[in-house]
Amino acid sequence: MQYKNKRDVLIVGGGTAGWMTAAALSRFLDPEHFRIRLVESDAIGTVGVGEATIPHIRQFNDMLGIDENEFMRATNATYKLGIQFHGWGDKDSSYVHPFGLCGHDINGVDFHHYWLRLHAEGKARSFGDYSFAVQAALAGKFDYPVSSSDGPRGEYGYAFHLDATLYAKFLRDYALARDVQRIEGKVVDTELNTSSGAIAAIKLDSGERLMAEIFVDCSGFRSLLLGQTLNVSYESWRHWLPCDRAVAVACEKVSAPHPYTQAFAHECGWRWRIPLTTRTGNGLVYQSQGMSDDEAASRLLAELDGPALGDPRVIRFETGKRDQCWAHNCIAIGLSSGFLEPLESTSIYLIQVAIQKLLEFFPGHEGVGVEREVYNSQMNLEYDRVRDFLILHYWLNRRDDSAFWRTCSAMELPESLTEKVNLFRTCGHVEQYRQGLFMPASWLAVYLGQGLIPERYDSRVNVPALADVERYLERVHKGCVAELRHLPSHAEALTKIKMGAA
Ligand code: FAD
Repeated sequence: MQYKNKRDVLIVGGGTAGWMTAAALSRFLDPEHFRIRLVESDAIGTVGVGEATIPHIRQFNDMLGIDENEFMRATNATYKLGIQFHGWGDKDSSYVHPFGLCGHDINGVDFHHYWLRLHAEGKARSFGDYSFAVQAALAGKFDYPVSSSDGPRGEYGYAFHLDATLYAKFLRDYALARDVQRIEGKVVDTELNTSSGAIAAIKLDSGERLMAEIFVDCSGFRSLLLGQTLNVSYESWRHWLPCDRAVAVACEKVSAPHPYTQAFAHECGWRWRIPLTTRTGNGLVYQSQGMSDDEAASRLLAELDGPALGDPRVIRFETGKRDQCWAHNCIAIGLSSGFLEPLESTSIYLIQVAIQKLLEFFPGHEGVGVEREVYNSQMNLEYDRVRDFLILHYWLNRRDDSAFWRTCSAMELPESLTEKVNLFRTCGHVEQYRQGLFMPASWLAVYLGQGLIPERYDSRVNVPALADVERYLERVHKGCVAELRHLPSHAEALTKIKMGAA
């Protein structure tokens, strides 16, 4: 039964996506006019592997009025200043993709052009030596950025490593306190409106029938409504992002958590290590064609830095996206709309963007039209941009130790990425996107970290004397080192949160 005068929104699925959606809708939709319900099945469960995020999650929490320290305590979170990539360029190489800048532009010319000039003369330090976030991460230190600072303390951001299952629970409490109704049950059938083709109702295993005006599909990889019921097709990106499985297991924490995620490349994919305050999350991502599940699991167990907490769990996936995230009266958010592997920790970000855009283009009473088209094209762009950045990591490898990496470096790139890479390769320029991830600083970290040095740099950096450029870069590096001395260790910063003193 629909409430008279109230518009019914029904969310199917209570993973991270479902509860993030429920929390945000309960915060921004007027309860006088909307009824929000969420169906989830304890019997089915969630993906829930220990997860890494990017700085945007702080905006999401702020938008909901969530206290950051309370959130960190509830999710066993640690701080994250970036991702360390091992073996992604040459087999023995290592670099950090930080949430922050490397130096400042001078006279309108980006810092990296000065670095490229010095590099060509054999006089540059590694690019990360000029980034405060990289230096702080590697030194195991953390403090909040100072937005008013025009020095290194103003040049970085931070995110979190968190237990996604606890985050979903935290948001569930938030949403339930704001009148979201939770319904336990398994969806076994869906009814379509025969004239419009829209979803009319879902049926639960209890026999209950739930009608709504708007359905949000947060059912995970099953994509119950958008995929299975509305038959919106799935575009596979397997030819660009070849990994199709992950095996995950948590292990005991054996040392102070690093303030960064680690991504170790192996012959057939990569392995993550994500430190929480209570345990360490680990996973091995691989291409099933080149590695069996058993091999992946034993490899993962052998590389843990502490005793395993349970048995490894295999998760199958196919990287790609539904052709539309919104069809008829159904908006898919989270894994039901697509999946990009966790190399740059972007899934929760994509959920957050989908929710923000849903609020922005929320369907009116009179049905949907142009807002659905705009939503879909904007979400497509978000997905495509993250996809291109992920492909770059694989394609730009310089490994020759396996067929997997050789195939990756020989792949044909999407046109959007070809243009971007060609521009950088020729003249060192990185265009800034108006919408979507990632910022030029991120592209630079991967290009230079994996060894792509452009053919030329901006000729304006030849004007100052080489010695002046050298002095300037050294000042930037020394500024980072000096500032670092005042920073508490990451462990100290976390203790403050735990004690409620931060
Ligand atoms: P799920 O967690 O699968 O939730 C689906 C929900 O739908 C569940 O509540 C389930 O009960 C319900 N459901 C399904 N079918 C039915 C039914 N028939 N009836 C009733 N309910 C039903 N993201 C990041 O941001 N950072 C990371 O580091 C990261 N690492 C990842 C590593 C791996 C290997 C994978 C696979 C994903 C990773 N992600 C990461 C993605 C992240 O886990 C998901 O995006 C996020 O958890 C959201 O999942 P979800 O809510 O869409 O789906």
